[in-house]
Amino acid sequence: MPFQKLAPPARGTAITKGKSGALVVPRDPIVPFVEGDGTGPDIWRATKRVLDAAVQKSYHDERTIEWFEVFAGEKANNRFGEWLPADTLTALRLYRVGIKGPLTTPVGGGMRSINVAIRQKLDLYACVRPVRYFSGVPSPMKNPEKLDAIIFRENTEDVYAGIEYEAGSPAATKLIDFLTKNLGAAIRPGSGIGIKPMSREATRNLVRRAINYAIAQRKHTVTLVHKGNIMKFTEGAFRTWGYELAREEFADLVVPEEELAAKHGGKLPPGKILLNDRIADAMFQQILLRPEEYQVIVTPNLNGDYLSDAAAAQVGGLGLAPGGNMNDDIACFEATHGTAPKYAGQDKVNPGSMILSGVLLLEHIGWQEAASAVIRGLERTIAQKRVTYDLHRQIEGATLLKCSEFGEAIVENIDQRMAKSLR
Ligand code: NAP
Repeated sequence: MPFQKLAPPARGTAITKGKSGALVVPRDPIVPFVEGDGTGPDIWRATKRVLDAAVQKSYHDERTIEWFEVFAGEKANNRFGEWLPADTLTALRLYRVGIKGPLTTPVGGGMRSINVAIRQKLDLYACVRPVRYFSGVPSPMKNPEKLDAIIFRENTEDVYAGIEYEAGSPAATKLIDFLTKNLGAAIRPGSGIGIKPMSREATRNLVRRAINYAIAQRKHTVTLVHKGNIMKFTEGAFRTWGYELAREEFADLVVPEEELAAKHGGKLPPGKILLNDRIADAMFQQILLRPEEYQVIVTPNLNGDYLSDAAAAQVGGLGLAPGGNMNDDIACFEATHGTAPKYAGQDKVNPGSMILSGVLLLEHIGWQEAASAVIRGLERTIAQKRVTYDLHRQIEGATLLKCSEFGEAIVENIDQRMAKSLR
């Protein structure tokens, strides 16, 4: 038994990987979940209800998910005296796909963030965030539906990995001394120091994943977003390594932007994917001014952090923004907002981000019918203006629903769609 303190469900089968590297998904996969802290239990209950209903309605009794509760955050600390028990990481490794609610960040000592710890311990190198508009959601844009993209953000490197030394500390002083004396760097004495490592290996892994996604989902543009004009050996190298990978592994499918005019008269041949790149600051303008030109966006860690939230705001905010952290073996999907502790236990907040993370999970295991059923149910519910408090305060004439009622409304709308399609 690989677990120290937990017992996996009596029923269910583990997802495995076939020889080709593709997931082999049984009809009853065991999927670990962390319900999360604060409002986590509320949004998880609504999410589980919607996902189970969508699977049941789509496949009747042919398929089912066997949920396996694992622990992290406050609940884990209260129960086991640990913020991130080893069993949780074991379960994610063993069952390959999981979902988690938001977690309280421990204040003082120990871990910087449990989320970052999970990503680093499992080497989940890609953070994947789709950004799309749901009709009826208030947005600051005139045409928010024009943005329909997915962001692949590197998750383990860059200044964001947290290798930093406090101003005046012996380590910072030693580093400044070394850099100024040995490498001729000009650094003000007494500075704080952050280190920005970016590797060819991590960049290639990320770009490969993004291009494979574009191929699978029939997207025709992949864009590398970097600040390589200034940070040449980190962000600039990210760009170079991205094009290099595409040339080496996808030469028959991917057309680099510089070849578009030279070899194809400026027009992308049918069935091909354009690989271009944009400097990060320009990209923030581009997604506002020409959002329809971008489909798959690949960025280093820090750019991706900023860009994902800015893009989410364009389509109506973080309340409906899902996410996933993954590598070639494991994928863990998660709500992108925090625990909203002031609303804990009030059955009030919007479960949309977690529900859509569940949709990503269904898509990841190839259960597309159930994923589409959830999307349609959610679209209809929002179009009917039946929403939780966060959207209610922005939509005129809307009906205010609790968190659980919003989940029920989605299930109801899935039912009606199914009934219609059977008629
Ligand atoms: P937060 O929990 O995201 O909440 C900030 C505000 O965002 C809430 O007060 C609420 O705004 C709105 N909000 C968040 N989730 C919502 C939902 N599901 N539905 C509707 N509105 C929602 O951010 P925080 O207060 O800065 O952080 C609280 C804790 O969460 C901290 O311990 C933090 O470290 C942690 N955190 C965890 C994660 C994660 O696990 N992925 C991510 C971020 C933060 P209004 O009050 O205006 O309605």
